[in-house]
Amino acid sequence: MIPYCEPPFQDLNSRDWSGNSITLRVVREDLNHPEVSGNKWWKLRDNLKEARRQGLDQIITFGGAFSNHVAATAAAAEIEGMKSIGVIRGEARLPYNKTLRKACEKGMVLHHVSRTEYRRKEEQEFLDSLLTQFGPSYIIPEGGTNRLAVNACQDWAAEMERSESFDYLCVAAGTGGTAAGLINGLSPAKRILVFPVVRPPEQMAGEIRKWITTPKPNWTVIHDYHFGGYAKWNDELIAFIQRIRLEYNIPLDRVYTAKLFFGVLDLIRKHYFPAGSRILIVHTGGLQGEP
Ligand SMILES: *Cc1c(COP(=O)(O)O)cnc(C)c1O
Repeated sequence: MIPYCEPPFQDLNSRDWSGNSITLRVVREDLNHPEVSGNKWWKLRDNLKEARRQGLDQIITFGGAFSNHVAATAAAAEIEGMKSIGVIRGEARLPYNKTLRKACEKGMVLHHVSRTEYRRKEEQEFLDSLLTQFGPSYIIPEGGTNRLAVNACQDWAAEMERSESFDYLCVAAGTGGTAAGLINGLSPAKRILVFPVVRPPEQMAGEIRKWITTPKPNWTVIHDYHFGGYAKWNDELIAFIQRIRLEYNIPLDRVYTAKLFFGVLDLIRKHYFPAGSRILIVHTGGLQGEP
């Protein structure tokens, strides 16, 4: 079991919204574990247990060069005394960025494949060839999204609802697995806003629906804050990261959480939320600072 530290809830105060009696809080899930942080702790929790149950001591997973999931899996596997292989999209670019350096430090073997080959990441034939090459392994799909991961995020939602009262919950989405789990776990009275960081954002609702257990009308995908797509950013976003760090001492990453926070603050400014709303932003963790 990977250690878990109960995350604090942090108030975000500003004249921009206190006049509207909007309450804005952040659940600092980024602080739940130093290396297997945020939603990745939840998504990996039962997968590592399941690997063990199947008698496997090696994990194979998939991701791009900026994948927090790859770095978190490497760290989690090391903690559990397991080996890990990361199948990485695209040829190796040296020097490695922070994410891949982290994965290597944790003992992960990085297996770079071409973008064309990477597209086969869900084909059984491709998976079989990896198992032949690397030996018996528990396979975790790209981004860590599978039924065990989604169900663990459902438990997480219940925890948040127990510890904090709120009307809106706002969360970033890559695969949408985390958002789906939170939607499954929250009571229908809550409204959930999902901020895709990938393109095209219009596909996100379909991705989420694949994992939703009971259809509910209480969630919305917000399309406008992907900043050009996965791992794309601009100077405005980088300046925003610096501002939030200075004003609130909250570290954000440019792939996920910066886009989410930017979007929520922009929606507040545009009066998207009715006066009196209590908004909870989920800080899903990840690697901050330089890419
Ligand atoms: C992986 C990640 C997400 C996206 O999670 P999905 O379940 O793939 O939607 C969001 N935020 C951070 C910080 C992440 O690392």
